[in-house]
Amino acid sequence: MEIVKYNGPITGEQIAERLDLARATIRPDLAILTMAGFLDARPRVGYFYSGKKIAQSMADGMVDMKVGDFQSIPVVVNENMSVYDAICQMFLEDVGTLFVVDDHHCLAGVLSRKDLLRSSIGGVDMDKIPVNVIMTRMPNITHCSKHDSLLQVAKKMIDNQIDALPVTEQGEKGLEVIGRITKTNITGAFVALGEEYDL
Ligand code: ADP
Repeated sequence: MEIVKYNGPITGEQIAERLDLARATIRPDLAILTMAGFLDARPRVGYFYSGKKIAQSMADGMVDMKVGDFQSIPVVVNENMSVYDAICQMFLEDVGTLFVVDDHHCLAGVLSRKDLLRSSIGGVDMDKIPVNVIMTRMPNITHCSKHDSLLQVAKKMIDNQIDALPVTEQGEKGLEVIGRITKTNITGAFVALGEEYDL
């Protein structure tokens, strides 16, 4: 692809020569790259690089990226944990968002860095106040399933101005938290997509 990108249009014979291979050896590779839309072939002209089709196939790749393939392990705390302990937990686990669960281990709320900062400068007794007093609570939690596309989730993050979503599954007593998807995961997926296309 690099040879075609920088030297196209170029014949199959010339590509083979540059690779020190026989034309017949690279014929299947060229056929696949042409069928997949990475290269275009014109009779008597040769192969040339099809930037537009790459963009299209990247877009297809983006739609195929699912939450389940990029999610991280969730960090959950009980709703009765003190604000002080939640702050310690956030540092220990090195995350920016904690998910809060009830005694049935079902999603009850979300705690962000600023939620905890706000309460720490608000003069409350951080040792006594439980996180369920300051968290954003259900049913106002934006969550997703592992089958959702990353693009859908990224849109929810932007629309709701949030950094993370719990990945949930319906359990008997409520929503169970099975993962965590953050802006960092989305950025990682973006980089992986670029690497897949050698960009
Ligand atoms: P920060 O507050 O540190 O900037 P966020 O932007 O993620 O972090 O959070 C902004 C607000 O939105 C916080 O009050 C937080 O509790 C809430 N929040 C965070 N994630 C969610 C979510 N998935 N669903 C609903 N509210 C959320």
